[in-house]
Amino acid sequence: MVTEGGQWDSDIVEDLFNARDKQCILNTMVRGDREEDVLYWNEDLTGDYTVKSAYQMLQRQKGLWSTADNSTLWKVIWSVKAPPKVLNMVWRALSNSLPTREVLAAKRVPVTLICPFCTGNGESIFHVLVQCPFADQCWRKRGRGYQPLAEVSFDRWLQRMLEGAGKDDHGDILTLCWSIWQARNKLVWNQTSLSVNQVVFSARQFLAEWKGAQVMSTKTLYRDVNSRDGVCSWAKPNQNEVKISVDAALFAECSKFGIGLLARDSDGRVVQGRSELFDGQVRSELAEAVAVKEALSWVKDKQ
Ligand SMILES: [Zn+2]
Repeated sequence: MVTEGGQWDSDIVEDLFNARDKQCILNTMVRGDREEDVLYWNEDLTGDYTVKSAYQMLQRQKGLWSTADNSTLWKVIWSVKAPPKVLNMVWRALSNSLPTREVLAAKRVPVTLICPFCTGNGESIFHVLVQCPFADQCWRKRGRGYQPLAEVSFDRWLQRMLEGAGKDDHGDILTLCWSIWQARNKLVWNQTSLSVNQVVFSARQFLAEWKGAQVMSTKTLYRDVNSRDGVCSWAKPNQNEVKISVDAALFAECSKFGIGLLARDSDGRVVQGRSELFDGQVRSELAEAVAVKEALSWVKDKQ
């Protein structure tokens, strides 16, 4: 079906295929080098088939995943100061894995589709967290100039909400999503109805308690740094040796962690000290490891 000139023979294609297939064939580029044809998987830039790319394609075809670029939204979400379980729930809602009745039904779980709050609509993620009259009342009760947004999906809606709010309100918005979902679960699994006031109040309380705990843990770390630096737990190094003490502190509030290095001689005199601040929220073991690594680099530089 390809002519000597390396083009499709449109007469033959015309004779053999219907209009749609003909168009698909003619739209396909013919390899100029006339090498053997190879199978090429269009969903991956390498041309090789991967299960991941096939899954993404199927999700897009089912309309479950938006093709729009959500990377800005993800960046904002992961920078929000909110309890990990809230971020996890929002992440599941955005990646369409929050087990609402419509999501379960799409996975062939035999469930009713009806929203447990209003019993008048299908329970999609967008509906139960935003569109449902119960969720709508929660958002109105939260206030802050809430305007119902004419969006078509949860990700678009959330993006607009976060864009329209100050950074300090981001945690509040995500935690209310979480609180509405908690109320929904209480209703479905325990047959317990919460009021709009209770949902909004418990979101505020949960976030405030979590923020309080973050401040406490930072203070505790400060205290640890001081107490562990006490002379009783420190022994002098041998003559002509220098001992370096290292420690790290986490500052979750500002997404930073710090390290401190102190070099002392055999008389216990401070020879030199150094501290540094790094960006990032890391586990304490990692911060301690960074401190040790920095100490080793410090020693190497001094040699
Ligand atoms: Zn509803």
